[in-house]
Amino acid sequence: MGRVAIVTGGTRGIGAAISRALKDAGYAVAANYAGNEERANAFGAQTGIPVFQWDVGDFAACEAGVAEVEAALGPVEVLVNNAGITRDVMFHKMTPQQWNEVLTTNLTGLFNMTRNVWEGMRERSFGRIVSISSINGQKGQAGQVNYSAAKAGDLGFTRALALEGAGRNITVNAICPGYIDTEMMATIPEDVMREAILPKIPVGRLGEAQEIARCVLFLVADDAAFVTGSTLSANGGQYFA
Ligand code: NDP
Repeated sequence: MGRVAIVTGGTRGIGAAISRALKDAGYAVAANYAGNEERANAFGAQTGIPVFQWDVGDFAACEAGVAEVEAALGPVEVLVNNAGITRDVMFHKMTPQQWNEVLTTNLTGLFNMTRNVWEGMRERSFGRIVSISSINGQKGQAGQVNYSAAKAGDLGFTRALALEGAGRNITVNAICPGYIDTEMMATIPEDVMREAILPKIPVGRLGEAQEIARCVLFLVADDAAFVTGSTLSANGGQYFA
């Protein structure tokens, strides 16, 4: 069996495409999800990928989740921090709850998950961490101060931790997708998409989840060992209108 990989939020959208691509490439994949059990079970039944429920915002739940995956599949060698949420609202209306929820899932989730696989990776002198940040963490986005702050934080997390992993063959990288066609995009009004978003994407379309999965496959490969602390932008040429 191939290397063991956890994909957080791995049952829908970009995460589902990553889980499938890793499985097809021979990895032993565990797909995590937050609470949408029906969707997760359907995904698991369809793909044969085992699914595991826990909240990446809860440290103890991540610790238990990683232990459960390791008991089932073996030591985790690849972690894809993909789980993410939005709570879009203009800053003057943003509540502490909207701020905290987004920071907890999209930034603290990276700490909670990575901290629970890090020691094992250090002991075995191998690890691949890939976190899905966002173009909106690179450029900032009105209505997404919480999300942009969290996703920018993911990039700082990546660069700093890469320095700590470098001596142990643990790479830590981030991917910044532009606009990708998933359910997360369905929260954006159609006129905003047509008039404000699509005209800014040079290739003239949204990205596909599989196109992000392709980036993950590159970064987690054994022979990608020299690529660490990097940010891979996959945004259809949208720099950074
Ligand atoms: P979706 O909303 O389609 O799927 C989100 C996934 O994350 C689901 O599997 C969901 O589980 C899971 N999830 C959410 N919160 C938690 C949590 N607290 N603990 C565990 N799992 C959780 O999102 P996308 O596929 O669109 O996005 C995936 C990642 O890519 C996110 O980090 C997002 O910010 C980022 N991104 C997306 C872009 C886009 O255009 N779509 C652009 C740039 C970045 P459940 O099904 O149980 O709810």
